[in-house]
Amino acid sequence: MSRFWSKKVHSLKPYVPGEQPQLENLIKLNTNENPYAPSPKVLEAISKATNESLRKYPDPNGLGLKQTIADYYDLDLNQVFIGNSSDEVLGHAFQALLKQDQPLLFPDISYSFYPVYCRLFGINYQQIPLRADFSIGIDDYQSEGGAVIFANPNAPTGLALDLHKIAELLEQNTDRLVVIDEAYADFSEHSAVGLVQRHANLLVVQTLSKSRALAGLRVGFALGQADLISGLERVKNSFHPYALDSLALAGAVAAFDDDAYFKKHCSMIIDTRDRFSQELKQLGFEVLPSAANFVFAKHKSKPAKDLFEDLRKEAIIVRYFDKPRLDNYLRISIGTDKEMQTLLNKLGLILNQDNFST
Ligand SMILES: *Cc1c(COP(=O)(O)O)cnc(C)c1O
Repeated sequence: MSRFWSKKVHSLKPYVPGEQPQLENLIKLNTNENPYAPSPKVLEAISKATNESLRKYPDPNGLGLKQTIADYYDLDLNQVFIGNSSDEVLGHAFQALLKQDQPLLFPDISYSFYPVYCRLFGINYQQIPLRADFSIGIDDYQSEGGAVIFANPNAPTGLALDLHKIAELLEQNTDRLVVIDEAYADFSEHSAVGLVQRHANLLVVQTLSKSRALAGLRVGFALGQADLISGLERVKNSFHPYALDSLALAGAVAAFDDDAYFKKHCSMIIDTRDRFSQELKQLGFEVLPSAANFVFAKHKSKPAKDLFEDLRKEAIIVRYFDKPRLDNYLRISIGTDKEMQTLLNKLGLILNQDNFST
């Protein structure tokens, strides 16, 4: 605390990211990073862009990347917004679009950054409880209130809302903006990008951090009709006009260009996830059906907190949330087959020891 802090700073409750310990031989399954390297073409593009032209500012509009994304999703250039991570893109969306007189609606269990932004930007919000099975009930969003934001697939549950439900939500609420945070959509079959042309009240936010293995590069984007995008541009150009550096722009274009690499690695992660979920069930876990690159699971007898701590002793880090409704679950990112097998072996030993000691 400091007497030089503004009033605002006193009132903030910053987001706490998953830990990034710098230990060797750690199996790190706590922040949903991709276990595979980025495409070699991405690394090559970044190396090529690492030259004397770093002297100059990057293109403030990032036209090359915008055009690449527009072509990839069959959208117009003015339907694409790019930012320095999707957290930043979300931040601009909160300021440009979600700060309204009516409270912003989002699920009580979703990306924990949303209430953080609301406090930072002074946005009223109302949290709508997920149903007992952790699903989002679209009828629960018919009440009074303004815009809606949620992650789909949701985090940390991994559950996806079907595309036809999203279309229904958009049609029932044409006067309400719906922002869908699709950080994990590439691991599911439920991306709403195809609905952008038809629905003026939809903004889709995505990131290259998870499915394209580029969490370190910090690139995110939003897709929506041109008027929504130009609102985001107004905020961005009032804050950080050169949001994406030259290396990030070059790497991100290459990531979309190497579609074969992207698709191959997404399907590897999906296969590992589905096999791993089955194996967890064999060990006595209840596993929510995941459409993401992580699973959310609880054991039938051993508390999640104990499992989390026992795994840590074995140099395996998963995510544990000490929060109501979540505190008996572990969120486990999907790593390589080998990492998941090591985790399963350790879990088997940990659970077995308990059997003998009780
Ligand atoms: C990881 C994540 C983000 C942030 O992604 P960045 O682009 O790395 O900032 C946003 N939303 C959700 C739901 C996420 O899980």
